[in-house]
Amino acid sequence: MRKQIVAGNWKMNMTFPEGINLIQEIINNPSSLKGAQLIISPPYLLLNQAVKLTQGNNISVAAQNCSEHEKGAFTGEISASMLNSLQLEYVILGHSERRAYYGETDQLINQKIKQCLANNLKPIVCCGEILKERENNEHFNVVATQIKGMLEEITAKEFKSIIIAYEPVWAIGTGKTASPDQAQEMHHFIRETIRNSYGSEIADNLSILYGGSCKPSNAKELFSNSDVDGGLIGGASLNAEDFIAIANSF
Ligand code: PEP
Repeated sequence: MRKQIVAGNWKMNMTFPEGINLIQEIINNPSSLKGAQLIISPPYLLLNQAVKLTQGNNISVAAQNCSEHEKGAFTGEISASMLNSLQLEYVILGHSERRAYYGETDQLINQKIKQCLANNLKPIVCCGEILKERENNEHFNVVATQIKGMLEEITAKEFKSIIIAYEPVWAIGTGKTASPDQAQEMHHFIRETIRNSYGSEIADNLSILYGGSCKPSNAKELFSNSDVDGGLIGGASLNAEDFIAIANSF
C-alpha cells in the first residue's frame, strides 16, 4: 500500500512567531493525527523549531529547496547535509516557482535530488506543464521530459525515497483546479512512465501528489482517484483548519 500524503508548502510566508503559531494550531487539532501523513514545509528559519515541535506527532517536515552543491562558498545557500543535521525528512525540489523565477532546469534539479539522496533526505519532486503547453496538447511530453531529466542516473534503490508532485502550473495559486479526470489521467501517465523505467514494484509504491488550488471543497474528489495519493498544498496550507480538512479528505 502506498502512502497517502498531504504536504503543505508555505512558500515565503509567515514570520517566526506566526509560523510557530501555525505549527501549534496544526499539532493541537485532534483530527490532525488521523488519516494521511502530514508534511509541513515552512521557510528555512522555522525548520529547526518545526522538527522539534512536531516530534511524536504524525507530522513530518520538509524544506522548500536546497543547494545543488555539497558545501563551500555559495553565499545564501543551504546544503542538503545542513538540512539532514536538523533531522528533517523531506525536501521539495523543482517547484514551478523555482523554475520560473530562479531559472532552475531539470539538470539542476537532478543535482539537487542527488544531494538529497546522498544525505538521507527524501525529495518531493515537482513537475507540471504551463497553460500554453496544455492547450497545445503537449502536457504529456512536457511532464515526461521533466521526469526523465530530473531523474537521470537515479537508481531504482534511490528512487524508493522519492515522491512526485504533479502541479499543473496554470492551477497553482490561480483558483483553477485540474478536474479530477485531468489529475487522474496525468497521475496514471506518470506512474506508467516510472513503471517503464523502474518496474512495477516501485511504480505501484510511488506516492504521486496533486498540487494546484487544492482546498477542502475539492480535495475529496481529487483524492478519490486511484492514482492520486494526496496533495501538495500551497495557499490552503497556511490555515490549520483547511490544511487538516484537506488531509482528512481521503
Ligand atoms: C503550490 O505552490 O505547490 C501550490 C499547489 O499552490 P496552491 O495550492 O496555492 O495552488
